Amino acid sequence: MMEKSYPQRTCIGCRQVKDKRDLIRVVRTPEGTFCLDQGGKMNGRGAYLCPNETCIGLALRKGALAKSFRMTLPPDVKESLTEELKKIETENIEHAWTGTESRPDRLG
Ligand SMILES: [Zn+2]
Repeated sequence: MMEKSYPQRTCIGCRQVKDKRDLIRVVRTPEGTFCLDQGGKMNGRGAYLCPNETCIGLALRKGALAKSFRMTLPPDVKESLTEELKKIETENIEHAWTGTESRPDRLG
């Protein structure tokens, strides 16, 4: 615990414990809608997932999201959350290239 420590959360898909900032928060807003909260600051009941399609798939199959929110998620909500997570996964892969200092184009 000597390094910067961040709050730990469990991914409801793969059940791995990770830094909160490495996970995506799924939020049920007070209005009853669901969304992904990348900043982790939205109001509402939340559950945490790894930012990849696999984990939301697992969470949906196991009913972990439904359990977290104590309600069944409508199919269109499941779909849009999966789509959004897929987008984030893709963006993260792109950022892995552009966000680092040692970019490939600096070779030579
Ligand atoms: Zn996971």
